[in-house]
Amino acid sequence: MLYRIGFLCLFCCSLFSAEHVYLKTPNISQQEIIGTNVGIRPYRKTGIRLETESFLDKLIIHNYGYGGSGLTLSFGGAKEVLEILTNQKSSSKSVAILGAGVAGLSTAYDLLEKGYDVHIYANEWSPNLISNVAAGIWSPLAFPSDIPEKNKQLHQRFLEAAEQRFLNSIGAEPEFAGVSIISSYSFKTNSTQEALKTKHRGEEVVVHFDNGITKNGRRIYELAIDGKLFMEDLYSKVKSKGAVLEQTHFKNLDDLLSLEETIIINCMSLGSRELFNDQEFIPLRGQIVYFKPQEGIDYLLYQNVPNDTNSWVSIYPWSDRIILGGVYEYGEEELIIDPKIIEKIIQNAQNCLSNAL
Ligand SMILES: Cc1cc2nc3c(=O)[nH]c(=O)nc-3n(C[C@H](O)[C@H](O)[C@H](O)COP(=O)(O)OP(=O)(O)OC[C@H]3O[C@@H](n4cnc5c(N)ncnc54)[C@H](O)[C@@H]3O)c2cc1C
Repeated sequence: MLYRIGFLCLFCCSLFSAEHVYLKTPNISQQEIIGTNVGIRPYRKTGIRLETESFLDKLIIHNYGYGGSGLTLSFGGAKEVLEILTNQKSSSKSVAILGAGVAGLSTAYDLLEKGYDVHIYANEWSPNLISNVAAGIWSPLAFPSDIPEKNKQLHQRFLEAAEQRFLNSIGAEPEFAGVSIISSYSFKTNSTQEALKTKHRGEEVVVHFDNGITKNGRRIYELAIDGKLFMEDLYSKVKSKGAVLEQTHFKNLDDLLSLEETIIINCMSLGSRELFNDQEFIPLRGQIVYFKPQEGIDYLLYQNVPNDTNSWVSIYPWSDRIILGGVYEYGEEELIIDPKIIEKIIQNAQNCLSNAL
């Protein structure tokens, strides 16, 4: 009997102990929209490709296929590339990096730090890249469950290295701009499924939005990367550290093999499909909506959408805008904004903020 009473007390305590949090409601009405964007997440069936290949006198180190996690993981890739180069014991300190997205730039940055001469070749540059579309939410790579064990371990290494690196960027002397720890709220849906991220850490909270809606959920504190500030800073640091930047479009392998550098690091993401005949890509289009920045919206909000595994709600504050995202479009590769999808993203978020979700 005593045991039962004790259990009941514990149950009641946990119900009533959830912290009450009071949040400003983001205004996601049409009048607040300042833009939309679209990009392809470069997923691969077996995850990130990190491996070496030799052609004639060239050593090619592939570093691409970051899916929806490039901002999160790229410093993990940079670390691994550096280790490969160190193990090669090559006397050459001159490297070509192909691609100037987050993967190419973070690899360039780390190699420059170690005294390499870096020449970056790319046909497009920031801010016109998929890397500039990324919202900057901390996103461990999602991949199919049948992925080989060694690739899972590789991703885990990437994640740990990248996390450590970004944690160094918080505080009085941050290594990069735009990195912070953010309060992130995720909510249960009507079907009581919880958002994926909430399985790991955090505490239960009752969130009271100032539009009168109350939602039960969880709060975690997580890393966030303001993509605009971060990409600008990374790009300018790579330039000021002395990287040579060259606008080039590689049409075929011969173009690559004519480069003077013998060590080539391939960070061309989807460009690797044609150039290296990579059939592993599963490109996943995503669209996002930008709203005017709003005072008091300094948190991340996340909720899944019942009965729709390809949609979720995520609202994320950047320095100069609020980003609304949350859609996976399989098989869509055209970089065009689809008004129906934009409408769906906004509707899902409005439902979330009116308790209709
Ligand atoms: C809607 C959306 C939201 C996202 N949100 C997040 C998020 O919240 N968090 C997160 O971590 N990630 C996020 N991502 C994923 C992230 O944007 C990507 O993983 C990342 O940008 C991949 O970077 P990359 O450097 O490999 O590729 P890219 O940025 O695509 O860069 C590729 C480079 O290669 C060059 N290139 C390609 N082909 C050639 C060629 N033939 N010749 C010369 N140069 C070539 C290009 O010009 C470019 O410079 C999101 C993506 C999308 C679409």
